[in-house]
Amino acid sequence: MTKTPQSVIVIGGGIIGLASAHYLQQAGLQVQVIDQGEIGQGCSHGNCGLICPDHIMPLPRPGALRKGLSAMFKSNGPLSIKPGLNFRLWAWLFSFARNCNERKMLEAGKGRHAILHYSREFYTSFIKENNIECDWEQNGCLFVYGSEKTLDAYDPIDRVLSEEHNLPARKITGKELEEMEPAFIPGVAAGAWYYKQDAHLRPDKLVAGWKNLLQQQGVEFIEHCEFKQFVTGGSSASAIMVQRKEADKQEEMQADAMILSAGAWTPLLNKELGCNIPIQPGKGYSITMPRPKICPRYPMILEDEKVAITPMQSGYRIGSTMQFAGYDSSIDPKRLSILKTGSKKYLREPYCEPIEETWYGWRPMTPNGLPIISHAPKLSNVVIAAGHNMIGLMSAPATGRHVAELVTNQPTSIDATPYQL
Ligand SMILES: Cc1cc2nc3c(=O)[nH]c(=O)nc-3n(C[C@H](O)[C@H](O)[C@H](O)COP(=O)(O)OP(=O)(O)OC[C@H]3O[C@@H](n4cnc5c(N)ncnc54)[C@H](O)[C@@H]3O)c2cc1C
Repeated sequence: MTKTPQSVIVIGGGIIGLASAHYLQQAGLQVQVIDQGEIGQGCSHGNCGLICPDHIMPLPRPGALRKGLSAMFKSNGPLSIKPGLNFRLWAWLFSFARNCNERKMLEAGKGRHAILHYSREFYTSFIKENNIECDWEQNGCLFVYGSEKTLDAYDPIDRVLSEEHNLPARKITGKELEEMEPAFIPGVAAGAWYYKQDAHLRPDKLVAGWKNLLQQQGVEFIEHCEFKQFVTGGSSASAIMVQRKEADKQEEMQADAMILSAGAWTPLLNKELGCNIPIQPGKGYSITMPRPKICPRYPMILEDEKVAITPMQSGYRIGSTMQFAGYDSSIDPKRLSILKTGSKKYLREPYCEPIEETWYGWRPMTPNGLPIISHAPKLSNVVIAAGHNMIGLMSAPATGRHVAELVTNQPTSIDATPYQL
């Protein structure tokens, strides 16, 4: 991309598309955001809403391979893998396995830290300055363990986060934890690591508020408008072809640049991009309810059960589990019961009727745990911003800033290398 573009189309209106639109609009571009469905109804809708700058270590790490292998043989654990004849998933798993070592984990950690750190700071001021109503709270987050063995196994990670990233946690055990969080069943949690800089919010409200703000600033949103292909001229795209919901034929939309922020759907567009995007959908679930009477004061991750609990001002959510089974859109009651059983083990009032929503989302998972924020190799005016794994909400602002810097040919605020395709 040589001359500075004046107009841009963002393909995919999840949190990454919105954050990209934000910075592109601020850079003075005319911005349109299109989505095949409704804005914010993909993975950015019902996630757990945690903003944890300490989520630095990626999923591929020493020991993850063993867990992954055992997940292929049992379907009732928090991690479930069913590759079947899905050869793309096999290739992805192979690549994941190659990243499960300490060197790669620490390398990915640096790339994740850069985007997490900036994003946490952004949200604090952005939400306040723009009065975005999204249940924003800065209470910290508890990483809870059921046994001393698993609690202590986190010591080395804590050391790395404290010494290399200046993110120390407080280890809390026994009575102190129960006093801090009366929602626990006494005697069940062995202890927790408390990260006081963490925050949480309600993701669907953030998306709605951010979209409204962008609309007021002149960004155009077009829903039920599916990207189909690029119209190319040499090594760049001059337009895209889209299909609107009730239209009988495709239409052309022109812009100087395009952002592909289609989350877990991005690899379905490999042919159009002319390259291979190493993303697999990692399906997770959440259940949203009214706040129980004995509602936790703190958001928490029950680490041994892999269940996240988010007490929000307007509700209460339990979520998580990870299933690699391709683009399966069914709601599996067994996976919902993993969430219920996990929270029931620790909390005095783990759920509350009536259920407001049971939801699944496809996390865009990359084999190295890093997002791809990069020019498309064969189309110089197309930037890919996808593959945010389990940290898309908490790393969206830094991603948006990076996207805008790539599009406008500015020097990037963070080292671009870790996110390059
Ligand atoms: C259970 C669960 C809990 C989670 N908890 C957290 C958390 O606490 N904190 C956190 O940071 N992250 C969390 N995540 C991860 C986070 O939700 C994702 O990383 C993030 O939402 C990804 O955002 P995205 O914009 O890339 O994708 P999406 O939100 O999925 O958006 C992609 C959009 O692209 C659109 N699209 C796709 N193809 C096309 C096309 N051809 N044309 C037009 N539009 C298209 C889709 O309709 C969709 O709206 C969680 C995920 C799950 C499943």
